[in-house]
Amino acid sequence: MRDVRGSTQVTLKKGSADPALFELFANLPRESVVEVEGTARRSEKSQRGVELHPSRVSVIARAEVPLPLGVVDKVGAELDTRLNHRVLDLRKPAVRAVFELRTSVLAGFRAAFLKRGFYEVETPKILRQGAEGGATLFPVEYFESRAYLAQSPQLYKQMLIGAGFERVFEIAPAFRAEPSDTVRHLTEFTSLDAEVGYIEGAEDLRTLVEELIIDTLAFVRRDLSDRGNPLVRGIPEPKAPFPRIPFSVSEEWLGRPGAERDLGTEDEKAIGERAVREYGSPFYFLTDFPTAVKAHTFYAQRQDANPALTGYFDLDYRGLEIMSGGPREHRLDRLVENIRAAGLDPAGFTGYLEAFRYGMPPHGGWAIGIDRLVQVLAGLSNIREARLFPRDRYRLDP
Ligand code: ATP
Repeated sequence: MRDVRGSTQVTLKKGSADPALFELFANLPRESVVEVEGTARRSEKSQRGVELHPSRVSVIARAEVPLPLGVVDKVGAELDTRLNHRVLDLRKPAVRAVFELRTSVLAGFRAAFLKRGFYEVETPKILRQGAEGGATLFPVEYFESRAYLAQSPQLYKQMLIGAGFERVFEIAPAFRAEPSDTVRHLTEFTSLDAEVGYIEGAEDLRTLVEELIIDTLAFVRRDLSDRGNPLVRGIPEPKAPFPRIPFSVSEEWLGRPGAERDLGTEDEKAIGERAVREYGSPFYFLTDFPTAVKAHTFYAQRQDANPALTGYFDLDYRGLEIMSGGPREHRLDRLVENIRAAGLDPAGFTGYLEAFRYGMPPHGGWAIGIDRLVQVLAGLSNIREARLFPRDRYRLDP
């Protein structure tokens, strides 16, 4: 018999047990919901040292036979089959452990942000225009006009800095029409976004990211250990400062110095191997992304001393990008120039740009992909396993 806290053996012996009760158990389909009353007895043979000898049983909900997916089977099923029958899949203690970890990660971040005076905010998910480029927008019929699902809260979190909030964070879904089918992309993911006012530069942001990650992981380790969750063993204990590797150095490592090309999955993996080998830290920053790579990221501030570079940086974990962010352009004239340079029309951004017209402090922020973080912390090979009911190009059910 299993519930959310674990399982207990219920023992009936043929001959000595009530024949009607024995019959009921013998014909009870696996995974049915039952209520059992009886006497708990010490037992060396049972996993928990106790077994239950029943005196009364009621079947609350009988499971259909056969099960489309075994819950206690030793042999693993294909991920697709598991996701098709996700409710049964989630009954497996090892699968549920991932979501206990996820709960803990979110609680840890929330505590770490609140401790540092951040407001928790919720921004619109139905938008008139996107912020991350047109290719990954999901259109929505919106009465007489067309709207889009939010790819990120980017523009709104910056507007809240203009509103004087100074420090905001948001944990919310982000939607991207990702055409590629990879183990690290979903069409709906949870983005942990933050924005901070009055920064002096990228380093202020990196220091905050480090502190928040270190605090959160410490929280997760304590919490999972209290809950007896075996995934606690995989939670790293990183030390600040995380290595900072300039983008230009990573391109030298890849054997293409000065190429200024965006990093693909294989590039990130190769950089990850070298970074972990050289610095011994699973987390590391890739810094100073070239403007050419961030050309469409119009809100990314170009460095005044060297406009060919932005202050943008990624945080990677062993070759997987977890987070991206940096200082934003807060000067209206330059922001409008960047929007035009990205091939966009500033007239489409009136509401956003208004926030820059009446006093906008220097600011910056970042987005952490919660599903990717849970994926690496739980040691999952596919991001889909880090979400309860994942959505990808081919999956809208269940
Ligand atoms: P990638 O280059 O890996 O596609 P990106 O550069 O589009 O990611 P950003 O727009 O910088 O990502 O988003 C910030 C973070 O959000 C990423 O570091 C990642 O953790 C997460 N993220 C972005 N897109 C996805 C997605 N489709 N599925 C899951 N997580 C995502």
